[in-house]
Amino acid sequence: MSTAMETDVTAGFEMVVGLEVHVQLKTQTKAFCGCSTNFGAPPNQNTCPVCLALPGALPVLNARAVELALRVALGFGFTVNARSIFARKNYFYPDLPKGYQISQHDTPIAEHGRLDIGLLINGEPRVIGITRAHMEEDAGKSIHDRYESATAVDLNRSGVPLVEIVSEPEMRSPEEAGAYLRTLKQILLYLDISDCNMEEGSLRVDANVSARPFGQVRLGTKCEVKNMNSFSGVERALAAEFRRQCGVLVAGGSVQQQTLLWDGAKGEIRPARSKEGSSDYRYFPEPDLPPLLISDAELARVRETLPELPAARRARYAAMKLSEYDVQELTADPATGPFFEAVLALHADAKSVANWVNGEVRAVVNERDTAWDAMSLEPARLAALIDLVRDGVVSSSAAKKIFAQLLVSTDTPRAIAERDGLVQVRDDNALAGWVDEVLAEHPVEAARYAAGEKKLVGLLVGLVMKKSQGRADPKLVNQLLSSRATG
Ligand SMILES: [Zn+2]
Repeated sequence: MSTAMETDVTAGFEMVVGLEVHVQLKTQTKAFCGCSTNFGAPPNQNTCPVCLALPGALPVLNARAVELALRVALGFGFTVNARSIFARKNYFYPDLPKGYQISQHDTPIAEHGRLDIGLLINGEPRVIGITRAHMEEDAGKSIHDRYESATAVDLNRSGVPLVEIVSEPEMRSPEEAGAYLRTLKQILLYLDISDCNMEEGSLRVDANVSARPFGQVRLGTKCEVKNMNSFSGVERALAAEFRRQCGVLVAGGSVQQQTLLWDGAKGEIRPARSKEGSSDYRYFPEPDLPPLLISDAELARVRETLPELPAARRARYAAMKLSEYDVQELTADPATGPFFEAVLALHADAKSVANWVNGEVRAVVNERDTAWDAMSLEPARLAALIDLVRDGVVSSSAAKKIFAQLLVSTDTPRAIAERDGLVQVRDDNALAGWVDEVLAEHPVEAARYAAGEKKLVGLLVGLVMKKSQGRADPKLVNQLLSSRATG
């Protein structure tokens, strides 16, 4: 079949998307027991009677998990419920030894959030409503590829604390869903409540998607898509599922509510096995845990600890007259800003500091896949290097060579410049000597230049730079040559 037909099938239909994001909270221990949450431990090592669901074991709520959930609530502007209820979500699966997951149902810890996803639609900032955020525990993990004819179960993840953030069905395109997820993740990282690592499963996304004719108010039948392991995977899965549903509708059929799995390698959607599709969880209040009570004092205490969030930081940097690009780059992750500001505190010019941080320094961070504070580059040494360029002691190209040395040497930038012969020569006699030599060696160009052919200055400066092995101060060489032409 032609691709033209496949793309046509969506014409006249609107995509409606809601997202459920599971975020693993960065606690040392699990939600209801003292077991470690350490990722990558040997299977079933981080377990105890509580998270193995041995008879008689009772859960005790992790206070740190509550605190991190409150950070999420405040960071996204949710209304916090002073009293929320834990509930049992009942279903059978081998990786769920209790036969239920402790979650929150009717009364979650937080409701009614909003997220500006950084897109302008018809000139208006796009803001997506967030229905709720609730606390829950993770299930274990089934391992299907370890034994040929059997499935293994690893319960290390059983009982790890999560916050599930559920959006309203207000996104209308894969692009909006991608922007929502990227904005959400950025804020979660700033809040320092999770690693948000999709590959390790500390951030997981399920999407509810439906299609309806443009202009129809009633929502179409939705399907849930799971198993996406990157944000671009979510965008591709949404496009594929939307196309599938439109195809069903165009053919006169009706969409059946079901759960689907995304196969990123094949770029395909396929139906999930029946377990993932079951939706009758018969929730009831968890009898082993009291209602979760949050006092105003507790909320105020957590609010005090909130860090600066991306929007506020962007506004502050924009006020420094930095470009939109610089602002976006400097605030993309939580760690770049503090490094930028530490350098800035020692060197007044924000633009040149931003150039270095977004250029050479970021390149090293990306190349080494390291953290900003683990880079063995003290802000003071970078500031000293930028000062050398400002003061004309070294050229910009020499500064890049010195920068590379800063990462492997403990010498000061000036000492490296002197050691490697990178200090610009600004001595008039030395410069005049090189200029004279170049003019003598190129009499034709020299004569044309003297006769007023000013555009030759670039060529002559280049020759002087070459003769000086890059050490001459090009500005002074330029001045010197100009004075020769007019003189
Ligand atoms: Zn345990």
